[in-house]
Amino acid sequence: MYNKNNIFAKIIRGEIPCDKVYEDENFLFFNDINPISKFHVLGIPKSQCADFSDFIIKNNPEIIADFFKKINLVIQKLGIDKNGFKIISNSGQDGGQEVPHFHVHILGGEKIRLRV
Ligand code: AMP
Repeated sequence: MYNKNNIFAKIIRGEIPCDKVYEDENFLFFNDINPISKFHVLGIPKSQCADFSDFIIKNNPEIIADFFKKINLVIQKLGIDKNGFKIISNSGQDGGQEVPHFHVHILGGEKIRLRV
């Protein structure tokens, strides 16, 4: 069940500001408010998806592929493609997801110590 009052839903509706990195019709990328690396960008679909599985189930393959293409666009925009980066999506309780709107973390700009 999707909670329309989560903080990312409010950002999408423009009720809360964000530090935008990239936006198009379907996706929004913005800087994490509490970065854990030099670059820490969050990427979200604008549609109502609670977590990773919800995003995959609710969307057609073109949208899913486009999200990955836009992640790569942002990686290039940040200039972290050469030295490397980490992409993470926390999903659900065991995954440690805090905001219940599907998102990926793009981490880079320095050696990322976090190990999975
Ligand atoms: P997760 O634990 O994967 O759900 O990650 C949620 C992320 O959202 C955390 O890294 C937070 O720092 C970030 N966050 C929470 N509120 C905001 C906000 N208003 N703007 C940007 N990032 C946020």
